Amino acid sequence: MKGLLDQQFEQGGVIITKVDDLLNWSRLSSLFPMTFGLACCAIEFMSTGTTVYDMDRFGMVPRASPRQADVMIVSGTVTFKMADRIKQLYEQMSEPRYVISMGSCSNCGGPYWQHGYHVVKGVDRIIPVDVYVPGCPPRPEALIGGILKLHEKIRNESRMKPIALQQLLKKEKSDV
Ligand code: SF4
Repeated sequence: MKGLLDQQFEQGGVIITKVDDLLNWSRLSSLFPMTFGLACCAIEFMSTGTTVYDMDRFGMVPRASPRQADVMIVSGTVTFKMADRIKQLYEQMSEPRYVISMGSCSNCGGPYWQHGYHVVKGVDRIIPVDVYVPGCPPRPEALIGGILKLHEKIRNESRMKPIALQQLLKKEKSDV
């Protein structure tokens, strides 16, 4: 069975696009998340990879090494004991790299935010976060929503104006 694009280009053809659009499209269509989980939210992350939710359809192939991964999905409670390891794994990931914070624990400390002396009150205190997924735990549908939100963010990236630089400039403006 032929798809829409096959029919349109049966006689050959030319596609004109911007480098930004081409790179962003290829990047968002092949995100490699790191195989990594911290607590109960990780079970929902694993469920997202099963046939029911089929994370592969977004071109996502989990990688066991941070050096081959470009997305970190922080799924679970970030304890102070783990914080250094998370930061080290993040720094070992290839650029450009993205972080999805999955669940209340990772977003803000979750049920431990008040009395959990051993819990970091949000993973964004140690690494930059691109997308937050709320819930305790968020269902796989919610994580897929977060992945699509990240797609949107990557789609609007520009090589001339990287998002990190734009955020820095915005911060400088608001500080003045
Ligand atoms: S947010 Fe809830 S489900 Fe997720 S790790 Fe924390 S306590 Fe567990």
